[in-house]
Amino acid sequence: MSSKIGHVFSGIRPTGHSHLGNYLGAIKNYVALQDEYECVYCIVDLHALTTVEDTLDLRQNTYEMALDLLAAGIRPEETILFVQSHVPQVTELHTILSMVTPIGKLTDLPTFKEKARQQPHNVNYGLVGYPVLMAADIVLYKTDIVPVGVDQAAHIEFTREVVRSFNYRYNTNVLIEPQMKNTEVPKVLGIDGKEKMSKSLDNHIEIAAMPEETRQRVMMMVTDPQRVKRSDPGNPDVCNVFSLHMILTPAEDAAMINVECRRAGIGCVDCKKLFAGNLNKALEPFRARRADLAQNPTAVWDVLHNGSRRARTIAEQTMVEVREAVGLP
Ligand code: SF4
Repeated sequence: MSSKIGHVFSGIRPTGHSHLGNYLGAIKNYVALQDEYECVYCIVDLHALTTVEDTLDLRQNTYEMALDLLAAGIRPEETILFVQSHVPQVTELHTILSMVTPIGKLTDLPTFKEKARQQPHNVNYGLVGYPVLMAADIVLYKTDIVPVGVDQAAHIEFTREVVRSFNYRYNTNVLIEPQMKNTEVPKVLGIDGKEKMSKSLDNHIEIAAMPEETRQRVMMMVTDPQRVKRSDPGNPDVCNVFSLHMILTPAEDAAMINVECRRAGIGCVDCKKLFAGNLNKALEPFRARRADLAQNPTAVWDVLHNGSRRARTIAEQTMVEVREAVGLP
């Protein structure tokens, strides 16, 4: 019998090569959660359709994301790793849940408003219904826990409301209200030091890049804007390089930077070089495993197909209960 204490679900977009924000904010946490929970991790290709207009790269990006997850330490023999569109039950549950979801709730969600602002030429139904599909993803696998960053909390609260509405409407308890589990590093800023790290903003640092490329990206990072000359004292509290040092640099070195920066004892160039070195070192094992896995793409797809089979078994069991509760013939 399993000694794990609950079921975790999370979906990750097939954005191709992951960046440091994905890694620190989600993937590292995914790996750690496997020790305590039965985990189901889904590469959400259907979600990607709401914003991706050119789908030519979708297959390759799904594969690259699987490579990143496996290289980071996802253990497919215990964790279910699969592709969202390989489990058609999720779209059936999405339809059923949409019947207990007031449209105003969806259009009021800040994430919808933001997306509608970003792509005014393509405010499609999928964009409005996105949180319902996300709710279907979560509840289909009898999830207890969803790991989230701060910006996702509203979606999980929304899922809980949808579950309550469904269970109330059909006088049942077949769907479980998931709990949130805050991730340790909720927000990683990009090299611009302003916005959340993101590929579309081109402020990212790719984790699978060559060490020299990583070094170049780090050297482009914006630091304390008040520190103009090398002789100016800096303020690590407002510097994104320092925030990342705090995560990836040994505590002793981070403490040294904290002191030396304030009295101009260390310059930003040396500080960034130190960070780039630490980052490349931290990513070395990941990069080696990734290169190894990439030798055999068929084995990576096999992992995803096996995961999808296991996911479909759980999903179909849930749908039997859902159809029964709804009264579908
Ligand atoms: S020395 Fe380091 S911590 Fe200080 S401002 Fe420069 S990059 Fe940031």
